[in-house]
Parts: sequence; C-alpha cells; structure tokens
Amino acid sequence: MTDRVDKRDFLAGAACRTQGWYLHHAPDEIPGPGLHWRFWVGGHVHERARAWMGDGMMLRRTPLEAAVEGTQASVTDASQQLLFETTFIWNGLVARADAIRRHGIEWDLIEIKSGKFRADEKPNAEYVDDLAYTRMVAGGAGLKVARSLLVLINGEYRLNGTAEPFVYMDLTEVVNARAVEFQAIASDVAAKVGADERPTPELIFACRKCDYFESDCVGRGIPDPLFLIPRISEKKFEALKHYECISRLPADADLTDTQRRVVEVLQAGVPKVDPDALGVLDQVQWPVRYLDFESVSPPFPWFEECEPYQMVPFQYSLHQQDAPGAGVVHKEYLAPTDGDWRLYMTEQLLYDLGTTGSIIVYSSFEKQMLGLLAKTFPALADQINAVIARLFDLEQVFKNGYQHPEFLGRTSIKKVLPVMVRDLSYQSLVVNNGDDALGVFGLMRVKVMDEKLVPARREQLLRYCELDTMAMVRLHEAAEELRGGG
Ligand code: SF4
Repeated sequence: MTDRVDKRDFLAGAACRTQGWYLHHAPDEIPGPGLHWRFWVGGHVHERARAWMGDGMMLRRTPLEAAVEGTQASVTDASQQLLFETTFIWNGLVARADAIRRHGIEWDLIEIKSGKFRADEKPNAEYVDDLAYTRMVAGGAGLKVARSLLVLINGEYRLNGTAEPFVYMDLTEVVNARAVEFQAIASDVAAKVGADERPTPELIFACRKCDYFESDCVGRGIPDPLFLIPRISEKKFEALKHYECISRLPADADLTDTQRRVVEVLQAGVPKVDPDALGVLDQVQWPVRYLDFESVSPPFPWFEECEPYQMVPFQYSLHQQDAPGAGVVHKEYLAPTDGDWRLYMTEQLLYDLGTTGSIIVYSSFEKQMLGLLAKTFPALADQINAVIARLFDLEQVFKNGYQHPEFLGRTSIKKVLPVMVRDLSYQSLVVNNGDDALGVFGLMRVKVMDEKLVPARREQLLRYCELDTMAMVRLHEAAEELRGGG
C-alpha cells in the first residue's frame, strides 16, 4: 500500500469511494495464469510500442520521490524530446504517463494501451478516463500539456505485412473535458480512498461487477441480489433498487419474460421444468460427440493471415458415445508451443468427429471456432460446415427447458454442473477455468514459463478440457432424466 492514491484506486473511487478504498488498502494479488498472461501482454505491448515510438529516455519508477525528481529534471532538460515512464504527484495523487513527447514549448501526453484501434469505433471510455486522470495530475504538477494521445495496436497490422503495428489516437478534447470533471472530485476521492476508515458503502449499479460486493460489502449475506436478474439495465435497477433483493419484488414488477422466469424460480425456491422445451432433445442423433475448444487471442498475430487479438484454438477435447448409456471414448488434442498446428489440428478433429451423429457443445463458442477454421482453410470449408450443421447446443436446453434456483439465473456450465451432477467438479483441478487455460498456453507459447513446469502444465490443460466434455456427457444424461427419457 502507498499513502498516495494512484490511477487504479482513483478511477475506482470516482465511481464508488468504497471500492477505491478497498483497492487502495488491498494486499498485492498473486496472479493466476490468466492474470499473469494479461500482465505479460501489457508489458509486451508497452515494450514494442516504445520501440515503435523512437528513441527516448526511460526514467526510473522507484522510489517515488526520486522518480518525480527525475521526471522534473528531464522535463527541464532541453535536449530531451521523448521520455518514458514519467511520474507526477499532485494533490495526494500519483500518476505515471507512459510517455511524454516535446511538442513546441509544451508536451504531448501519451498513454500506451493494449487495445486494438478501429477507425469506426468511439474511444473506449476507460481509456479516456485513464488519460484524463494522468492529464489532471501531470497538468496539476505543472506539465504544460499540448495534446493527449493514445497509442493503440493497429487493427490492420499483420505478421510480415506492411501496416504499422500501432496508431496514435488524439483524444485531447474529450480528455480535457473529463479531466475537468475529475478535478471537481479529486480532493474528495483522494481523501476518502486514502483514509483509514472505509467510506460508507451504498448499493449502486456499479456493485453489479464489483469484486467486493458479495464478500465484503453491500451484497454480503444476501442470497438473491437484484443483480441476478439477467441483463438488468441501470434504469431498471434504479427503479427496483428499493426492494433490495429478488424475494421482495412484487408480482407486477416491470420485467422481461426471461427476467420474470428467473425471478419466479428464485422466489419459489423450486426448479421449473418446461417439458415442451426439453423436447428439443429429440433432435440429438446418435452416435453423439461432445466437443469443447480452448483458444487464445495474442495481441500481435502468430500467423500471417490473423489480425491482432484474433482467437486461435489450441486445444480440443472430445467424448464419443455411440448410444444412450453406452461407454464413452475420449479423444483430445493440445497444440505444441512452436510452429503452426492449426491445419493438423483441424484434420485430426474432422477425423475424430466422423460424419454422422450430433455434436453436442455448450454455448455458441465452438460454432465460432469452427467458422474461423473454415475461413482459414477454405479447402476444408465444406467438411467443417457439415460439422457445424451437426452441432447441438446443450446450454439452450437449460436456458429454455429447466431452471433451478441454485443456477442463480445463469446457465453457464460452471453454474449448472454442480447443481445437476454433484459428483463431478472443477474444484480439484489446478487449471479450472478458461481464463487460466488460455493464460497457461499463452505463457508457454511466448516462452516465459519455466521449462520444467511445462509437462505438468500441459497435463493440467488436458484434464481441464476433458472435464468440460465429460460434464456435457453427464449434463446430457441429466437433461434426458428430467424429461423421463433417461
Ligand atoms: S459493492 Fe458497491 S458499494 Fe461496495 S465497494 Fe463495490 S461498488 Fe462500492
């Protein structure tokens, strides 16, 4: 913890002082593989962006006072044109600008972001806030700021292509306006976020995505918060907020049909079955395959035709069952961490999937991955499209045919499995979610993982993906039992 409030804490505190306070006082997190991968991506993008921006002076970051002094000295040194990692302090707040570049007698403030630039999109509000915070603190500390610029990954960039890897985006106007808004609350945020005592929390829409909601804050001990209502908008939340939880909602609350279904199940506390909707299971044709992919999205493409952040499947698991109740056979593929495996993987997959029977998936993700592979390998497109035509999305059965109060209004496999199949669980797995799976593979591919750990990590990836398809086998059985067909 530092006494001074930094950008992360301030921006959280601008929306909710309590959340800013929690972040400011939280111990440093030990990152899992998913977060470790995102840290690596951020560091890698910064490194490449600095090289792209040209020769500049890298300043020290610690200790804080020395970093601030170093920035001040470099800014007044007329020979310096481009400075990286500058540090500013103002009004109890600390900010680091990724770069500043001399612009006449003033400076351009430059923030490097890992996001992708698309000419037709509005600037990301988070990026505007990031720059506005730095603009406010650097300006308050005396830096004459000419423009506020983002450096983003160029969406047109291709491996071995001619497009530049980065682009500048000038956000001066919108950033200046936002910085003025921040200035108006800066002292209050700095004081409350940095205080010893936690500011009094209040239920607001931002609580919906807050990590502290359930464990430490206003959602603690509430089993049925309003945020369990699917796709609840801020407007609807504000209108219903005074009821505090779902069990207190009146029968005539303004809800969509989908929202009402979830609310009714949570209020009744018993599952709801729709036999007609379960009838969709008749469409499943045997033999059945159960398929799951894992994918990773590298910021700079690993393969020539890919765009930045394009998803690349690197693993699949497949269970095959020839008839209801018959034994299951497992097949799997995990890419090597060198070279281009995609064609081999696709051919192996097509072979493993055969040409008859349904292919059960859970969500639309596998269809998306197959579509990508069809685009990448046009010669295999007919075969891949035939596979797509055999897909059956089991999640739809739980979306439309069966709701259980313990699903808490969700239908993801991680929510449904523990309720429907109590003896099968992700808990004991080392890699037990998609975010960590892609992180493990990404870190292996870019060679930042200790070589000695790689065999065990590969095994953990295989077991995770295998459980995903075994979960589908068991959920399919459970769904059949629900309609009395099992
Ligand atoms: S749960 Fe809500 S009130 Fe509590 S810290 Fe998070 S956003 Fe703020």
